[in-house]
Amino acid sequence: MTPGPVPVPPEVLEILAQPMIHHRTPEFQRVYKSVCQKLKQTFLTEQPVFLHTATGSGAMESALVNTLSPGDHVLAIVSGKFGERWAQMARAYGMTVTEINVPWGQAVQGYEVEKELDANPKIRAVLCQASETSTATQHPIQEIAAIVKKHPGAVFMVDAITAIGAMTLPMDEWGLDVVVSGSQKAFMLPTGISFITLSEKAWKLSAEATCPRFYFDLRLELEAYKKNDTHFSAPVSMIKALDRALDFLTGSELEKAVMRSQKMAAITRRACESMGLHIYSKSPSSAVTAIELPKDIDSQKVRDRMETHYNVTVMGGQDQLKGRILRIGHLGWIQNEDLEICIEAMGLALLDVAPESSLGLTKDKIQKAVQSLQQELQQKIAQ
Ligand SMILES: *Cc1c(COP(=O)(O)O)cnc(C)c1O
Repeated sequence: MTPGPVPVPPEVLEILAQPMIHHRTPEFQRVYKSVCQKLKQTFLTEQPVFLHTATGSGAMESALVNTLSPGDHVLAIVSGKFGERWAQMARAYGMTVTEINVPWGQAVQGYEVEKELDANPKIRAVLCQASETSTATQHPIQEIAAIVKKHPGAVFMVDAITAIGAMTLPMDEWGLDVVVSGSQKAFMLPTGISFITLSEKAWKLSAEATCPRFYFDLRLELEAYKKNDTHFSAPVSMIKALDRALDFLTGSELEKAVMRSQKMAAITRRACESMGLHIYSKSPSSAVTAIELPKDIDSQKVRDRMETHYNVTVMGGQDQLKGRILRIGHLGWIQNEDLEICIEAMGLALLDVAPESSLGLTKDKIQKAVQSLQQELQQKIAQ
């Protein structure tokens, strides 16, 4: 029950176990073509979506090197670990980075972005997480996209790594310029491939960009793409599995997946609150829920107890949130029963670790919370 890697559907696991085929064959090209078509439907774009054999961070780096040059001014919205990472990457390539430091657990306000863009017409890119996984917070992407659009010199790059499949993010309709994601989140695959797509405006920047690039050079990938090919060796097994997994993330299935995580997240929040727990984020993501524990309980101990004693894996917090929060993921092959078990395990682990805490939790309260969670799941989420 972590925000990624997530559980993989059994039929996808079976495909991963099939014998290897070569990537320069008509057999592979057929699969790749199907994947490329489906990816456009998942990212809601007419632009080609490319794969990198790298984790999500690889696609974040690709976004920068394919559109920007050393010395370029970049505006980074930093509201957690992943925002920090993107800003660091831009600095590593010699870009001049201005950060909007949003207090953790809060969403950036549109006017803050507008103020920076107005003050510095040299800004060529705005970087933002749609869902900042480290704080379980979502940002107003449509609003920021509209603001960036008023500044024709800048492109808007969105880390949608935990957003795709959990929130509606129509790239073309909202005018997003670069969107990246990764396989171990809503795509329900093992870790190891990532996705990137560029708007026409971002492609224009690509021609002028002077960042060093080789493996991530999307101009090479575009040439291969036109021939139904990948430039480097393709991770064949992952792509075959992706072809199946994307059936859960295209057309009406995509809408269903988004609704499902939104409902799961809402039901989780209510169950936590009924046990007296506090939701950390003021703008909660539907991909992951962060639960803030009272100061006298170490969340790391609760996390460990859940894992060793109740067989449920959730995540704790990082940096300033270490020991303070628990994070429960809503993406992936998660059944209603999994969430019931998880919430009950969390309650019991809290009692085990801190029986006398200020929370005042009792077995009775946990039971009641789990019962109403069960009812809500049955009423609202079909299996
Ligand atoms: C998981 C994640 C990443 C990337 O991670 P990798 O470990 O490189 O796959 C980036 N951004 C967000 C918001 C994420 O959730």
